[in-house]
Amino acid sequence: MEKQTLRTRLEHIYALGDVAAITLANGKPLPKAGVFAHAEALAVARTLSAELRGTDGARDFDGEGYCWVELGGGQAAFASGDFYAEPDPVVQLRSPGRLWHLGKVLFERYWMGEGLERAVASLGLALGSKVLGVSAAL
Ligand SMILES: Cc1cc2nc3c(=O)[nH]c(=O)nc-3n(C[C@H](O)[C@H](O)[C@H](O)COP(=O)(O)OP(=O)(O)OC[C@H]3O[C@@H](n4cnc5c(N)ncnc54)[C@H](O)[C@@H]3O)c2cc1C
Repeated sequence: MEKQTLRTRLEHIYALGDVAAITLANGKPLPKAGVFAHAEALAVARTLSAELRGTDGARDFDGEGYCWVELGGGQAAFASGDFYAEPDPVVQLRSPGRLWHLGKVLFERYWMGEGLERAVASLGLALGSKVLGVSAAL
């Protein structure tokens, strides 16, 4: 399969999420993670939509991802990076702190919550990622 478009060798068939085996430039596999499954799904959805409409707008998956590392005691670290960088992924690990833990709580509330709770979590994440200078696109 093509790692940017997520096209398989079968016409109009894409692979994403845990079922997709993507080999990085260094020969290692892209980790199986929800954040990648989500970004891959958005890219494939846009590409399929463009295909069906016969318009431009196909979107590639760029290999960008992030995750929190919970340490307990209200502390978490945050890792983010470009997994398609060559020759190796470029990943930045932020020192643990309470703010990162708060980000993880908001992320959880975004996915698990509904209505106002979800909207507030989304706003908090957008604001936090701007202030802290990290890419944590939803
Ligand atoms: C313990 C654990 C902790 C994790 N922590 C993190 C984390 O902190 N951050 C992170 O980014 N990722 C994490 N992951 C990884 C993340 O959960 C997966 O990468 C992600 O859920 C993959 O999404 P997916 O849609 O490809 O597959 P799934 O989420 O597994 O969804 C597949 C769906 O298909 C359904 N299904 C299966 N077979 C059939 C069938 N024959 N017919 C119909 N439906 C079917 C399943 O029931 C399931 O609902 C964790 C995984 C585990 C197990």
